[in-house]
Amino acid sequence: MKNVSILGATGSIGTQALDVLRKSKEKFKLIAVSANKNHLKMIDIIDEFKPRLVGITDKVAYEKVKNYCEKNKISIEVVYGMEGLNAVATATETHIVITSVVGMIGLIPTINAIRAKKDIALANKETLVVGGEIVMREAKKAGVKILPVDSEHGAIFQCLQGNKNSEISKILLTASGGPFRGKSREELINITPEEALNHPKWNMGKKISIDSATLMNKGFEVIEANSLFNIAYENIQVIVHPQSIIHSMVEYCDGSIISQMASPDMRLPIQYALNFPGRTEKIIKTLDFFAMGELTFEKPDMDTFRCLKLAYETGKAGGNLPTILNASNEIAVELFLENKISFLKIQDIIEEALDKFQYEKNIDVDIILDTDKNVKRYIKNKYDL
Ligand code: NDP
Ligand code: MG
Repeated sequence: MKNVSILGATGSIGTQALDVLRKSKEKFKLIAVSANKNHLKMIDIIDEFKPRLVGITDKVAYEKVKNYCEKNKISIEVVYGMEGLNAVATATETHIVITSVVGMIGLIPTINAIRAKKDIALANKETLVVGGEIVMREAKKAGVKILPVDSEHGAIFQCLQGNKNSEISKILLTASGGPFRGKSREELINITPEEALNHPKWNMGKKISIDSATLMNKGFEVIEANSLFNIAYENIQVIVHPQSIIHSMVEYCDGSIISQMASPDMRLPIQYALNFPGRTEKIIKTLDFFAMGELTFEKPDMDTFRCLKLAYETGKAGGNLPTILNASNEIAVELFLENKISFLKIQDIIEEALDKFQYEKNIDVDIILDTDKNVKRYIKNKYDL
């Protein structure tokens, strides 16, 4: 039996992770879960899975969940705030923590989970964007595994099994291209949040859906791939593949290219990470090659979708630049979703933040947290009118 904790159990990945656990009850036991605001979903999770520990970040939701448990004589520990996230991340009996909160709020709980010797099934890519080197160093020191949940990285991870990292020549990171693939800058001027949230292939949380529309998500994934697999940026190539059947590929020194394919369903990479190094019964739809139609490939348009270019540049420079990139993006996306700025303004704001804040090459967790706070405050003060 593997004991599992989920950070961000009420979200898109959290919900799909719960479905994976539901379908393998004999293999996995849910120990601890966290949520932010969605107390109703958390109550459903408590009723169904009966975890021992619950962490709630939002005060109102915390009170509601706590009252529900008291009223119904459910004896579980409910912990409030960051303390709750950290308690879920480090729960004693847990073997593996699924990190599926959104944003760099996941950094500290992830580091704490690693220090408590938990394996990590990592969905929360912002953590690797801002602190990839630190997280991977901590994982090595603690002797724990970082198992990628992001579909592309899960694919690459599968393609790497049985091969030597030193024999990789390139990572081919596939991208659906998002809802605005092929559009010009002029066509993006009046994009609404509703249009941007309408992803052609994946049904995801709001923030990552907007990141997919700007191609920042793919940019983050380039940085994530660099951290996870220690591959130079020059050897990570993004290929737009709108059908989302090939989830990524690895090219080896002899010219062989190994890909991983499956129907687009996040439950597969979650399941693979949880069962690694083994596999278990299929819960996704099988691919039908005769019904699939054409598989196509294109170059990404980095002039229109500048976020991807910015991610390559900041990733290469390292230091605090990826934190500035991430922090400015987090707030710009929030402002766009609240209809306070236009779609194209997201990339302008990120460029402004990258220009405005001082570059620091050598960073630690405190510098990351400080940079994040300062950048977010600056953008909020200037644009959240
Ligand atoms: P969602 O927005 O659907 O869910 C986010 C989760 O985090 C929810 O449980 C939410 O709680 C919680 N949360 C939000 N803000 C906070 C906060 N301030 N403190 C603590 N918890 C918080 O996101 P997704 O599931 O789509 O994405 C999660 C992560 O996985 C992201 O990093 C994303 O990039 C990555 N990812 C997602 C994929 C997908 O298909 N969705 C694919 C690959 C990666 P509540 O709902 O209770 O408010
Ligand atoms: Mg992905």
